[in-house]
Amino acid sequence: MNRNFDVVVIGAGAAGLMCAIEAGKRNKKVLIIEHTSKIGEKIRISGGGRCNFTNIYSNTENFLSNNKHFCKSAFSKYTQNDFIDLVKKHKIKFHEKKLGQLFCDNSAKDIIEMLITECEIQKVEITLNTKIKSIIRRENLYILETVNNKYECSSVVVATGGLSIPKIGASDFGYKIANQFNLKVTNLYPALVPLTFKDDILEFCKSLAGISIEASVKINKTIFNEGLIFTHRGISGPSILQISSYWKPDSSIEVNLLPQNSMDKTLKERRVKTPKQNISNVLSDFLPNKLAMAITSLLNTNQKIGEASNSTLNKISNFINKLNVLPTGTEGYKTAEVTLGGIDTNEINSATMECKKYSGLYFIGEVVDVTGHLGGHNFQWAWSSGYVAGQNV
Ligand SMILES: Cc1cc2nc3c(=O)[nH]c(=O)nc-3n(C[C@H](O)[C@H](O)[C@H](O)COP(=O)(O)OP(=O)(O)OC[C@H]3O[C@@H](n4cnc5c(N)ncnc54)[C@H](O)[C@@H]3O)c2cc1C
Repeated sequence: MNRNFDVVVIGAGAAGLMCAIEAGKRNKKVLIIEHTSKIGEKIRISGGGRCNFTNIYSNTENFLSNNKHFCKSAFSKYTQNDFIDLVKKHKIKFHEKKLGQLFCDNSAKDIIEMLITECEIQKVEITLNTKIKSIIRRENLYILETVNNKYECSSVVVATGGLSIPKIGASDFGYKIANQFNLKVTNLYPALVPLTFKDDILEFCKSLAGISIEASVKINKTIFNEGLIFTHRGISGPSILQISSYWKPDSSIEVNLLPQNSMDKTLKERRVKTPKQNISNVLSDFLPNKLAMAITSLLNTNQKIGEASNSTLNKISNFINKLNVLPTGTEGYKTAEVTLGGIDTNEINSATMECKKYSGLYFIGEVVDVTGHLGGHNFQWAWSSGYVAGQNV
């Protein structure tokens, strides 16, 4: 069957839903095509089921992109306060967990319900379980063919998200559309993802799996000071997820397991004050017991602190305060929260999200080369870019 719409949005995720609602408000006839059986699955699993839907302090510094300024225009047109107002309008209860991160009190499903309600008000049509076989541009129209229908529209919005978590619907379809239209796509990497190790460091991490500490991690001048958790494959936790977006294969990261304490000074003081104490017992005053034991065992330094040489104490303090580790990889797209990279921002007009070469073709959300830090920034990008496209389709 042939059907006509003003706008067809591909992907019923955060960005696609927001765009459809805004286009609907402008009396556009909108269809969303979603290839899975569910709406907003990534919203549902986000923020541990409570959806960290924005961040009070979100600004361009929280984003990675080949063009750092690209996201400015969208953020100025639709801010975190605009989304917070929408959440309040729907009487969804929320709280700040930490660092400006806003979470639902109840469940991420509240955000999905809110977006579905808004779509219903704007009479947005949503078709689920629908696979697009082809997209053709003919004069100023786009024709999208599915198994049962042909849809004709003047604007197509690609809101297919990134590659992470394929089992809930992630696909490379958005990048394929870019290739079809000869648009550049930057290199893609899993990001906000745990890091993996091998050999001694892996054994060290495995023996500590489940233990978490406050740590700071650093690559060049980029530094994050949040939680770190040891896992059976390596390390994870907020500071590691954050730094993973900056990590490239074959490069090392510097980890400070005790950022608030200079262990060099402390250990030398304790050598004088408590010479009979074992080094692992001294370390236990600052670090979890098991970690203290694992460090002295790995470095083969469990002796009385009073008998330890300067070089032994330096070795320990360097391990704790300046540990240089070389990850072997990441856990990949099956656990990554986002995809770093995407449609090259040079291809898109930042004020409209429309493709510069083809009028009527839009890219929004995670499929674009704009990647947020952990903490609600990625959803804010989805809302802002979706809003902007919705004003222009
Ligand atoms: C476990 C996890 C937790 C997260 N938690 C947070 C958080 O708390 N805060 C935060 O800011 N960010 C979080 N994120 C990141 C955030 O979910 C994404 O950045 C955001 O959902 C991107 O929105 P989007 O609309 O661009 O893509 P998505 O939300 O991924 O939506 C894309 C949609 O397109 C559909 N699709 C794909 N291919 C096709 C196709 N061929 N045809 C039709 N439809 C298609 C998909 O099924 C999906 O419904 C989390 C991510 C993960 C994986």
